[in-house]
Amino acid sequence: MKPIHLIPLGGNGAGAAPGLDVLEHLAAALARIFRTPCRIRPDTFDLSFALDAGRNQYHSTAIIQKLERVVDPDVRVLGVTACDLYVPVLTFVFGEAQLEGACAVVSAARLHEEFYGMPRREDLLRQRLVKEAVHELGHTFGLRHCPDWRCVMASSHAVERLDVKGAEFCGKCRKTVFEDRYW
Ligand SMILES: [Zn+2]
Ligand SMILES: [Zn+2]
Repeated sequence: MKPIHLIPLGGNGAGAAPGLDVLEHLAAALARIFRTPCRIRPDTFDLSFALDAGRNQYHSTAIIQKLERVVDPDVRVLGVTACDLYVPVLTFVFGEAQLEGACAVVSAARLHEEFYGMPRREDLLRQRLVKEAVHELGHTFGLRHCPDWRCVMASSHAVERLDVKGAEFCGKCRKTVFEDRYW
């Protein structure tokens, strides 16, 4: 399996990339779950090109297209940002991925308890970010949404749904990820 590279992505003053401690926790979790090396890249780029000033959100598809241009073909890359993401048909997304591709992006913007007016919960933020990252990377292995609500590939457009599912793949999804293909 290709190694995973995390690229921290900050916005134009509107939000920074998540802190290094959060990124390091995420990298360790991804390495364990996907059984492949995962590292945080020192290079980054500014997200202002993807900003929709009217929505004050960043277009996730544009970010993925840019990731695709900067990435080496022998790695899988995950952009990690604290900026709020959107696609035009939805009010927001937690993340987006290329189905059977090499690139994905996730946002921590709506994974913080503070976003919902609740007290800060660092543990919950870390768990949610891992689940969302595993989910988006799962799409890069060709996985679609899974009917098993415990599986990390279950669809979850609200943090309550993220919190009830696990960070791991169900047996069927795991088989797809670890089956010997070009990934
Ligand atoms: Zn999904
Ligand atoms: Zn599944």
